[in-house]
Amino acid sequence: MRDNDLSGSPFSLWIRAVAVLCVVGGVLLASGVPARAAGKLNVVATTEDLASLVREVGGDRVDVEALARGYQDPHFVEAKPSFILKLTRADLLVVVGRDLEIGWLPPLMTQSRNAKVQPGGAGYLDASQNAQILEMPTGQLTRAMGDVHPQGNPHYWLDPENGRRIARTVQQKLAQLQPADAGYFAQRLADFERRLTEAQQRWQSRMAPFKGLKVVTYHRSWPNFASFFGLDVVGYVEPKPGIPPSPAHTLELMQLMKRQGVKLILVEPYFDLKTPNAIARETGAKVLVMAPSVGGEKEITDYFKLFDYDINLIVSALK
Ligand SMILES: [Zn+2]
Repeated sequence: MRDNDLSGSPFSLWIRAVAVLCVVGGVLLASGVPARAAGKLNVVATTEDLASLVREVGGDRVDVEALARGYQDPHFVEAKPSFILKLTRADLLVVVGRDLEIGWLPPLMTQSRNAKVQPGGAGYLDASQNAQILEMPTGQLTRAMGDVHPQGNPHYWLDPENGRRIARTVQQKLAQLQPADAGYFAQRLADFERRLTEAQQRWQSRMAPFKGLKVVTYHRSWPNFASFFGLDVVGYVEPKPGIPPSPAHTLELMQLMKRQGVKLILVEPYFDLKTPNAIARETGAKVLVMAPSVGGEKEITDYFKLFDYDINLIVSALK
């Protein structure tokens, strides 16, 4: 009450506001928190692989959440009401694309009523746009006979070079949405690419002894992985992507495996092991439950650990 004549005046309030800002600013600088005008971007990724790559580039300037868990079949994810809430609040939605999420994501996007994250919106990113896509259909695009890969193979993140392409695509989008942090995202991307190049050399030297190794996989999840590491996928437990095994197809596959001396059957964690185990008993091959995604096993907490895990599995099986 000493400054009775000034305390309520606009001038006095202004002085106090400046003083408070100086104190807050000083505390922030002292604690190493960078002063930024923009807030954190709220990013939703459909898979944990994409979430991991967004985290690599976005660092502490983004909050990232994944919808599907890495141990779930990404073609058939159970849609939860909580997904809609996440999409409603999102500044950016990153999808695998190539129709991978077509069975579950579109109705959630509609129900989110978030115009930003709809296809064509500024906050929608199809991560496949700059990636190398294998098994592109040559005829008309159709989901005929249940084939769930009508737009080329959507499991393209399993080639580390595609991980690099996805990260670059993410960096461009983050910089566009939050230009004030463009330099930060570019520096994060450069650091990620350096670590990825190092890891690729390590992974390739561990896989080098198995160049040309013939394998069978349950679903067509591994063409990009096989192409990068030089494995030869000669057959599939599924007659077509998304179609369960049939006795006639299984019999044919076993004959093919015996003829070609196939020693490994790679199975995704969400498929029944009954048929792969029966094939293994008949042919003498080994069944490996491989992780197709980050989060496929508890220890696979990021994109690097995904390759570490799968390569360890293959190398130990062939020792
Ligand atoms: Zn698939």
